[in-house]
Amino acid sequence: MNNPFQNALTQLNKVATVKNFGEKLFTELSQPDRDVRVSIPVSMDDGSLRIFEGYRVEYNNVLGPYKGGIRYHQDTEINEVKALAFWMTIKCAVAGIPMGGGKGGITVDPKSLSKAELEKLSRGWVKKLADILGPKKDVPAPDVNTTPEIMDWMSDEFEKITGDKTRATFTGKPIEKGGSEGRGPATGLGGFYVLNSLRAQLGLPEKCKVVVQGFGNVGLNAAEIFIAHGHSVIAISDSKGGVYNESGLDLEKLKEHKKSTGMLAGFPGSKDITNEELLETKCDLLIPAAFENQITEKNAEKISTKVILELANGPVTPEADDVLFEKGIAIIPDVLANSGGVTVSYFEWDQNLKGEHWTEKEVFDKLFKKMNDSAQETHKRGKEYSTDLRRGAFILALERIKEKMQF
Ligand code: GLU
Repeated sequence: MNNPFQNALTQLNKVATVKNFGEKLFTELSQPDRDVRVSIPVSMDDGSLRIFEGYRVEYNNVLGPYKGGIRYHQDTEINEVKALAFWMTIKCAVAGIPMGGGKGGITVDPKSLSKAELEKLSRGWVKKLADILGPKKDVPAPDVNTTPEIMDWMSDEFEKITGDKTRATFTGKPIEKGGSEGRGPATGLGGFYVLNSLRAQLGLPEKCKVVVQGFGNVGLNAAEIFIAHGHSVIAISDSKGGVYNESGLDLEKLKEHKKSTGMLAGFPGSKDITNEELLETKCDLLIPAAFENQITEKNAEKISTKVILELANGPVTPEADDVLFEKGIAIIPDVLANSGGVTVSYFEWDQNLKGEHWTEKEVFDKLFKKMNDSAQETHKRGKEYSTDLRRGAFILALERIKEKMQF
């Protein structure tokens, strides 16, 4: 079993083989500032009381308030949340935004709850953690299975408890409730900007054959954006499996098909494939946009793409990283590739604190600049230290963190 937090620390330690930052920085970054676990009681629709386990990990705040999403998933546990909070620390530093790293979660399958139960659970998470949250302390956001509506319930609950009316404690809110234009597609769009910035340097063709794992906010938006820019998506999957068509899938029709049948399988004109087969599909660009530990030492040898764009957090294990490196497959790491989401979250926080509302164009222009800069800075570190982009990104982040760290 791959422990994501161990994997995250292995990535950190691998940086030391190419650049010496000194022992102290690694020691400081090998544990979170604090990890909080709470029990959240929810009275269920049938009158029973259930207790859910919730988390908030505040990893590091030298660059700014702790920042990171809240994940609702039946497999979510503390080691996953710690890893995700660590990656947020590195990600915000790579993005060059004044935010630290944090992450939250609840062990729950949200599909098994009614809307009323989900709202009570979300408000319950805030009731238990309100003391440590706040615009200048810790700023949560959406992640897997958490939506703008959930952020609105949480933001409202926080306001009720503390009286804070800035609405700057939660990002990813609905636009009419203080959310930013462009937050919805931000992760997929940011990934697209990064890919564009590095495409020629990585030797990719102008029009790529793309494979996407994931049909949620990130995967679907990314697939739509790549298609809109002339690339073709030849395979895509959700948690149950995927579909493949060598000459490109029609996403609009596929969305309708999923809506009416509840699944991707059986889409006319395409071949059903498993998630394992999807990852091994020959393509130019593979985009894992679902969960951790999808490409491991078990399947790395069979991966047949030129470049991997990690829109999920932690989809490639450190062992698989080594195998892919040997095979000449470049990886655009999560801490760079998917930082568009948190970057627009930062824009939302900034707008809330200043009482402003920027247009979608302003948001996208600022996002483009940030993503392009961090992509090129990462690439530069990779070249300078003759290493891969993951270590390049970590070096960039650690330089920025070390500068502000007091020992
Ligand atoms: N959950 C997203 C991530 O993993 C976004 C975090 C945020 O917007 O704060 O980067």
